[in-house]
Amino acid sequence: MRRLMMRDVKSVIVVGGGASGMIAAISAARQGAKVVILERLNRIGKKLLATGNGRCNLTNTNMDISFFHGTDPKFALGALHSFDYKQTIDFFDFLGITPKVEGEGKVYPYSLQSSSVLDVLRYEIAALNIMEKCDTEVLDIVPTRPGFIVKTKSGQLKGDSVIIATGGKASPQLGSNGSGYVLAEKLGHRLTEIYPSLVQLKLYEKYVKQMKGVKFEGKVSVGVKDKALRVECGEILFTDYGISGPPILQVSRTAIEQISKGKSPWVEVDVFPQYSKKELQELISTRLAYSGTKPLDFSFVGLINKNMIPVVLQCANIKDIKVLAYEVTEQQIQKIVEVLKNWRMSVKDFNSWDQAQTTAGGVDVRDVSPKTMESKIVKGLYFSGELLDIDGDCGGFNLQWAWSSGFIAGENAAKE
Ligand SMILES: Cc1cc2nc3c(=O)[nH]c(=O)nc-3n(C[C@H](O)[C@H](O)[C@H](O)COP(=O)(O)OP(=O)(O)OC[C@H]3O[C@@H](n4cnc5c(N)ncnc54)[C@H](O)[C@@H]3O)c2cc1C
Repeated sequence: MRRLMMRDVKSVIVVGGGASGMIAAISAARQGAKVVILERLNRIGKKLLATGNGRCNLTNTNMDISFFHGTDPKFALGALHSFDYKQTIDFFDFLGITPKVEGEGKVYPYSLQSSSVLDVLRYEIAALNIMEKCDTEVLDIVPTRPGFIVKTKSGQLKGDSVIIATGGKASPQLGSNGSGYVLAEKLGHRLTEIYPSLVQLKLYEKYVKQMKGVKFEGKVSVGVKDKALRVECGEILFTDYGISGPPILQVSRTAIEQISKGKSPWVEVDVFPQYSKKELQELISTRLAYSGTKPLDFSFVGLINKNMIPVVLQCANIKDIKVLAYEVTEQQIQKIVEVLKNWRMSVKDFNSWDQAQTTAGGVDVRDVSPKTMESKIVKGLYFSGELLDIDGDCGGFNLQWAWSSGFIAGENAAKE
């Protein structure tokens, strides 16, 4: 076996130039390794540019393992502790990114430009003489004990260690086309079932089309049968196919997981989370008494979105929505309140991978060391980022996982 001499420089090949690949490359190069990033697209970091609506929510100060999911979310603890959100903020601060902490602990660059995060990463990559090879899709990784041969369309490269940081399958237009799963499986790793996460939901109810574009601050629950499984608050948006907005993306994982188990999940919307049913009933009764001879539907103008009014009344089984306000009975008001507070709709499906922000499932973490990110099957091979069976909630948790796992993988891949 070839022994690394004191003067030998370890060569590390990073497959994938996304968030986790870039930080892995930097961390390996800072340990003195000679590093190359192989990226299938024409430039690195394309997905990073799209994050946080172009603002890059790079981490979160309310870090807790409960924001992470997967078959064994605790696997993430090792990397999340070794390179935590404070180290992430310091890492980026050192590169020039002044942190800006917004609501719920979400951290952004003060410039509010994701391009600035990519710019400083690329500057550091160049400063460390890391080679970027774009338009270079990795097709195969062959262990040669010691080292590896990495095969691409345009030739092959030799390296002492390889880090697979190819991302999952979400938003393949930004590079992650699922090819990493093929590479990992071919090298003997198990995969868990993958499905899109942080994605909009399609609903069976055709009436949602009438409310396309309606936005409001509400509460959403997702559940099966009589059991609510997850609840989130925030801006909810109806679309022509169903429902969207940050709280929907957040609960989508739970709904899709249930669909994949053959169950029929529902979403329940609370349009007035700030009022109890009793308070809302009083508010509407007073409003209708005041409206007097105005038509019922018009009596709600100014309280809820106009495009929502006829749908709410239909769902409350009110046949004549033009009935005079004073003629509406208390039972009918109760029905309207029921709809506004517990508006249950059935989840039919979810939007495609193209719309998803992240991937649930992936490389089975039982085959990977949580301390080093090294494969337990192939020595010298490392994994990082979304490719692994770890995914986070909205709020900077997915990027934190990419930074933590990437940094640890790079550091260890560069060691003898
Ligand atoms: C629209 C959008 C907004 C998001 N916003 C946020 C946010 O604000 N905060 C947050 O925490 N998370 C956010 N996420 C999620 C986050 O961006 C990802 O979880 C994170 O980028 C994953 O990093 P990664 O390095 O593992 O994978 P990726 O960033 O997907 O990078 C993988 C890279 O590998 C390359 N590649 C794939 N296969 C090969 C191959 N065979 N050979 C060579 N190269 C290959 C790809 O082209 C890609 O560049 C968002 C995602 C999307 C889609």
